[in-house]
Amino acid sequence: MLTWKDIINFSVKGNPTPDKRVEKSEAEWRAQLTPEQFRITRQKGTERAHSGALCTTYDEGQYNCVCCDTPLFDSTIKFSSGTGWPSFTQPIKENAIKYEKDSTFGMVRVEVMCNTCDAHLGHVFPDGPEPSGLRYCINSESMVLDKEIAE
Ligand SMILES: [Zn+2]
Repeated sequence: MLTWKDIINFSVKGNPTPDKRVEKSEAEWRAQLTPEQFRITRQKGTERAHSGALCTTYDEGQYNCVCCDTPLFDSTIKFSSGTGWPSFTQPIKENAIKYEKDSTFGMVRVEVMCNTCDAHLGHVFPDGPEPSGLRYCINSESMVLDKEIAE
């Protein structure tokens, strides 16, 4: 299980190696994604709180990257944080997510990205529920819920 200490280590010393890499040009991403998905995942945007389709969904399944379909989170580690964004306590696999220090907007935060294609997903904070204490705060627009996998 990852803890805040691991997250800081990844952001300072380097991220775990992903199983594979997906790299596309900006034009290819733009053609594949909706304008809102493109703005969030490829231009580090944020959707408005409580606007995301996956925010209040607790159906069983796996949350995949909207850009490259890599599994990122699953419904068993989703929790209701009250923030207005889908929230998770752990990634589905240790090397699924990439972490980077983000000092924009006068705050120091840890940005989380898809480790396969570098899609911006959201941020992770050290104020989540026990035992990990982590809260991955993720944009709905950056994920697709695959319900088939739960069966
Ligand atoms: Zn991806």
